[in-house]
Amino acid sequence: MIIIMLGAPGTGKGTVAGILSKELNIPQVSTGDIFRKNMQEKTELGMKVESYISKGELVPDDITVKIVENRLKEDDAKNGVILDGFPRTVKQAEAIEKILEKEGKKIDLAINLTTPEEEIIERTSNRRVCSNPECKTVYNLVLNPSKVEGICDKCGSKLIARKDDNPETVKNRLNSYFLQSSPLVEYYDEKGNLYSALVSKTINKMGVDVAKEIVEYIRGENI
Ligand code: ADP
Ligand code: ZN
Repeated sequence: MIIIMLGAPGTGKGTVAGILSKELNIPQVSTGDIFRKNMQEKTELGMKVESYISKGELVPDDITVKIVENRLKEDDAKNGVILDGFPRTVKQAEAIEKILEKEGKKIDLAINLTTPEEEIIERTSNRRVCSNPECKTVYNLVLNPSKVEGICDKCGSKLIARKDDNPETVKNRLNSYFLQSSPLVEYYDEKGNLYSALVSKTINKMGVDVAKEIVEYIRGENI
């Protein structure tokens, strides 16, 4: 089963994708995580993408599509994946469709998460992530703090703020989202495989709640 996660930064894509991955037993593939790991390790790819990510701009399509294409060839992706943060442009969507088609596969479900902009700004500025690349657990200083401040509950590593989570860069990321990624919502709606959900404290619904609903939906619809 191939599921993609759409939605602006800070809507909870990673949280929902993580839960779906466990429940459905297929890996979560986050292009953002792949890029950040490469930046940390200062690989050639990491050096190439750093300038885009630090400005809150999208990494060029050709680089991103290749990364995903290669990742899908790995053994653990045979039975499906949750693509967290990909595709983010119509070009990427068209490219992945062609790649999957060759294998007789398709995108089974596109999940679109929405959150009010003020909440996005608040959530991203309070977001802290585990610096251990094997762990990457995400916390929130207000909504979901670690037991000991600055330390990961799971592995004891230091928690850090993502460099691109500062309000200025978040604004650029939101801009990139609305200009380049939001047309994908209509794109998948027209194909008839879109599931949209609001993630917001105003309706008392966070990523974990929405993830439960989606699991039920997938099982109910036999996707
Ligand atoms: P968020 O959804 O919170 O912005 P991600 O971890 O998904 O965070 O992405 C971080 C950054 O990585 C993005 O701002 C962008 O620069 C880059 N990136 C991730 N996925 C893609 C993609 N599919 N296409 C282009 N750039 C991407
Ligand atoms: Zn950790």
